[in-house]
Amino acid sequence: MQAWNKLSRMPAPAIKKMQDELFTKMLREELAVRHPYYREVFKEHDINPDLIKGLEDIKHLPFTEKEDLLPRKNDLRHPKKFVLEVPSEGEQKGKKKGFALFGKKDKGPDPSDYKFHTLYFSAGRTGKPVPFEYTHYDLRNLKEAGLRAFDILGLTRDDTMINAFTYAPNAFFWQMFYSTIETGSTALQTGGGKVLGMEKILKAMDNMEAPVFVCAPGYTIFALQTLDHFGFSAENLERIVLGIDYAPMEAVEKTRKMMEAVGAKDTKVQRLYFIAEAKSGWAECDPDYGYHTNPDHIYVEIVDPESGAVLGEGEKGEVVITHLDTRGTVLLRCKTGDIAAGGLVTEPCPNCKRTVPRIMGDIERKAYYYELHSNEGPVQFNANQLRKMMTARDDVLLWYAEINRDRGLDNLNLVVKGTSGTDEDTLLKSLAEVLQKEFSVPANVESASLDAVVNKIGLEKYITAQLIFDNRDL
Ligand SMILES: [Zn+2]
Repeated sequence: MQAWNKLSRMPAPAIKKMQDELFTKMLREELAVRHPYYREVFKEHDINPDLIKGLEDIKHLPFTEKEDLLPRKNDLRHPKKFVLEVPSEGEQKGKKKGFALFGKKDKGPDPSDYKFHTLYFSAGRTGKPVPFEYTHYDLRNLKEAGLRAFDILGLTRDDTMINAFTYAPNAFFWQMFYSTIETGSTALQTGGGKVLGMEKILKAMDNMEAPVFVCAPGYTIFALQTLDHFGFSAENLERIVLGIDYAPMEAVEKTRKMMEAVGAKDTKVQRLYFIAEAKSGWAECDPDYGYHTNPDHIYVEIVDPESGAVLGEGEKGEVVITHLDTRGTVLLRCKTGDIAAGGLVTEPCPNCKRTVPRIMGDIERKAYYYELHSNEGPVQFNANQLRKMMTARDDVLLWYAEINRDRGLDNLNLVVKGTSGTDEDTLLKSLAEVLQKEFSVPANVESASLDAVVNKIGLEKYITAQLIFDNRDL
């Protein structure tokens, strides 16, 4: 990866040129040579990497789907096909002199860059967890991505923070961990609700007088709502960084409101966006200015989720990533299943003036788009919308929704636990009305105990809470 102070101010054409060079180098010197999966794909599709002149030609290359990455029934080691083979020592000496990238002398591949370090898994929110192999080279990149994210967020060594991301073999937790280590800030790595539990996390925030709290959006809102119950103070709290799970603007607003309600010193809320496939996360300088990507690490395309056509600047579509500078697991045109409402923009950020490409708008998950059967035929149900709507409400503490099928017809069952002081009957009635208006299938709303909802959604069990359960036997 490049020097960040230079890269983050580099004009768009220079970024494009750098990405072209990194891409063709990756394609010709890595994927075509030592990537078992793409080597096969190129052969199958009769693709000659030498004829791909730059990113202009990327549209001629096939997509990689999430399913392509999963272990096969008869081949559990299938994900290993996405891992670069370690070059032999001889390759280094015998290699023809490569072109000089950014004026640096190209000495050929260093085998130690390719040696396996660790596995991080996708969060498995919507399917089976996928393993991604990191080498020490990738670990250095992860640390660099973490430092850059802190730079964008404006976090320094003076910021004491509580890291409440869930401890797991997952790059999101570890990026945050390494960011605090590399920055040298005072930080408590709580491991999240799964490890330390809510009471101890809140107690630590109070005792350490930590101004910064880093957490998944759902757990953050729940934490602020239960602060009073445990009798802790948030008077030193100034800033919350939301991450791991995607945080729509409704979650940002709600978090701000809750911070104010609990008497926080300031109510700054910022977001991080993690894609397991990108092997790192990106930060936003302030909400709604877009996630500032690392163009020397990942090339981002926004495509039509159905046709796969590459979309223009600022158009809503699916986020597709291509690795430009990774070892271990390497992906080419991988469809992430995430929809960026505001697409990708390459003009400088009007807020912080950094010039790196930004992924704009709220992220929606494609897996949250459901087709339901009603007695008037198929209807679309966007559970991302339901999630936003439920997040925005002040009278809902926790919730989940089930999709059920009865005699060929689908219905929604919404289960809620209201905030303390909320009249349950009024809450259920108002939710039933909204559901009927917004979603065109029969819906039932019921209340449940706090424990029942906490257990069902796995609030302190999973990396992020699970909110939608499709019970249909499809
Ligand atoms: Zn910015």
